Amino acid sequence: MSLRDAQRGLGALLEIDVQIDRRRQQIAALDPGTTLASSYRVSKPQADKLRAEANVLAAAQKDAELALASVEEKIKSTSDKLYSGKVTSPRELEDLQAGIDALGRQKATLEEELLVHMEATAAAEKAAKSAEIGVAKIARAYRTLKDTNTKREAELLAEIKALEPKRKPLVTAIGDKALIKKYELIREHKGGAGAAHMTWDRTCTACGVMVNGTTVNAVTDGLVLATCEHCSRILLPG
Ligand SMILES: [Zn+2]
Repeated sequence: MSLRDAQRGLGALLEIDVQIDRRRQQIAALDPGTTLASSYRVSKPQADKLRAEANVLAAAQKDAELALASVEEKIKSTSDKLYSGKVTSPRELEDLQAGIDALGRQKATLEEELLVHMEATAAAEKAAKSAEIGVAKIARAYRTLKDTNTKREAELLAEIKALEPKRKPLVTAIGDKALIKKYELIREHKGGAGAAHMTWDRTCTACGVMVNGTTVNAVTDGLVLATCEHCSRILLPG
């Protein structure tokens, strides 16, 4: 096989490899969800803290409700006693009434306190709920992203798997083992294309650098194997 034919064969191989590499790059570029994961790490403990605060306030409200209920119960039992007709001593009746009055004042204070508790609890509950919704949203977005990535990666891997068998006949056709080895080594070293085309305006399509005169002739004549002085890739006619 002439060098000209080898160049052509390498061009066909390059075309397949470019397609494979593009898919590998797409896999590597898939968003790993780092941003979402880090905002989850910040938001989750914040939401947990707000929930704990809301729980403490809700418990305090419950205590206030119980205290109020207990005073109301005392008022009721004292009133029942007062109006039962069983107590007749004026002094005792007076004491009962005084007790009811004192409990009434206590009740008013507890009612005011309960209102303050209820407001605080409602505000804390609202803050905790909104933080929890935020966390759930982040978690959902992360799961969706991971699912999408898994699906996309599987698609791309399947495409690569379908492209790879196309290399073998091309490699066999080129025949020149040393050339293939050189191409593969550059590919490995560069982590991508082992060859590049020289465009009509004499630039290397891989690195974009202008090819010097001697190399231009080597590429177009096809008498010696030319490589780009800048990126070391095998240069093929455009
Ligand atoms: Zn180059």
